Amino acid sequence: MDNPDASTDSEVKVTGVLNPDKLKELGYIPSKQRLLKGPVAIFECVEPIPCNVCVFSCPFKAVVMDKITDMPKVDFNKCTGCGLCVAQCPGQAIFIVDYSPKGETGVLTLQYDLTQPPDKGEEVILLDRKGEELGKGRVLKVYKHKRSEAFVVTIEVSKEFLMNARAIKVRR
Ligand code: SF4
Ligand code: SF4
Repeated sequence: MDNPDASTDSEVKVTGVLNPDKLKELGYIPSKQRLLKGPVAIFECVEPIPCNVCVFSCPFKAVVMDKITDMPKVDFNKCTGCGLCVAQCPGQAIFIVDYSPKGETGVLTLQYDLTQPPDKGEEVILLDRKGEELGKGRVLKVYKHKRSEAFVVTIEVSKEFLMNARAIKVRR
């Protein structure tokens, strides 16, 4: 497991947009072998904020922190990609990516913070970290987490977008 104990990216502070290279540097990107194995969590939490919800929301003890202001460290070998942390992250900073399906499409799971989530089967627009449109995806599943009341949406997307699509726009 890589160690994400690195300082906050100043570029993020200036632009508000995360650089995928920085995520790699922080140890938040699993190996290619792990990515191909099945669903896994991608954490995009790069600010040392006092939050450890993900540590306690993971039933597999895949997320650890020495102190509450640390950034989470993820053990990708323990992470099953269950998505329980996605629903409970107050920063909407956790995504599940799944490259394992055969073919050109994979599966992305993210938190959706608006009141009217898309329906199963609906086509949605994928947005990148800057909020710019990347392409389209098809909703596979939507659920509302009982405790956090957040919606979690699972979408079939082209594998080329799995690491860049980080929000959705519902076309209504
Ligand atoms: S996806 Fe599941 S197993 Fe992985 S870190 Fe989140 S809660 Fe833990
Ligand atoms: S719950 Fe979310 S915001 Fe809080 S530390 Fe974990 S990833 Fe970061």
